[in-house]
Amino acid sequence: MDYQQILEEIEIEIQPLFGQGKVADYIPALGDVDADQFGMSITLFDGTQFNVGDADKLFSIQSISKVFTFTLALKYLGSELYKRVGREPSGNPFNSLIQLEYENGIPRNPFINAGAIVITDTLITHYKNDTKAFDEILLFIKSIAGDKSINIDSVVASSEMEHAYRNLALTNLMKSFGNIKNDAISLVQTYFNHCALQMNTQTLSRAMLYLANHGIDPISNKAYITKSQAKRINAVMLTCGHYDASGDFAFKVGVSGKSGVGGGIVAVIPQKMGICVWSPALNEQGNSLIGTKALELFTTKTGLSIF
Ligand code: GLU
Repeated sequence: MDYQQILEEIEIEIQPLFGQGKVADYIPALGDVDADQFGMSITLFDGTQFNVGDADKLFSIQSISKVFTFTLALKYLGSELYKRVGREPSGNPFNSLIQLEYENGIPRNPFINAGAIVITDTLITHYKNDTKAFDEILLFIKSIAGDKSINIDSVVASSEMEHAYRNLALTNLMKSFGNIKNDAISLVQTYFNHCALQMNTQTLSRAMLYLANHGIDPISNKAYITKSQAKRINAVMLTCGHYDASGDFAFKVGVSGKSGVGGGIVAVIPQKMGICVWSPALNEQGNSLIGTKALELFTTKTGLSIF
């Protein structure tokens, strides 16, 4: 298959969608990003890469970081983790408080904000303090992506902290139910720090390879997690990776994926490749509007959906 040709066709076909959707502005620093950008990358198991558009441009990975923190927590806690966070779709917006009250402070899954905050809390406990936890998360992502230069966009991180009302409310509510063990403020700051990491579609597509290959990075041969853990992360990405549009993403695209409000989406094609697409304008549910369309075009053109 000529993947380069396919990416180039997609880049042309998504052009009419520029101008639709809206850049996330509840984090003011993200609101300043130019909406009219698009990049897409594929990385194969031997490291061959195909790119189109703004594939080398750094963007805020936001909730895509939750795939990596979930991986780390699963690696260290195993299925004990599910006592504190579930694995069912929420059917609610990513930052909703309502379900948490009904369900006694146990978030539905690791990809809604509340679930990701619990995951970060388990990592702070595991690594003994917030600074060490963030350093280890960053080291892990650098290793998985094969890129030592990954770093935090501190303007985005402080912008999130200045407008942290809802995430702090989620954290305090969970703490009132006993499901948060560490200090709420430093926990939320650590969570924002990993959301504010900057990467591009090239490195993120490469970072998905361990999930396409049963937990083992096919380039470095490092085994990050077990085959069964990789299966479960992919399953949660498929069912919960796009908030309350996860069903729609499975319906239209048909692969495991995870989006972030920075406009990135990562996707996994089992035994074949990692994919990342980025375009900052979001649809109503907070997923990249053009990114979702580009992935739909990709699985339609290649037949590489999992169904
Ligand atoms: N840091 C963002 C927040 O907590 C992540 C949201 C996202 O990417 O969906 O609001």
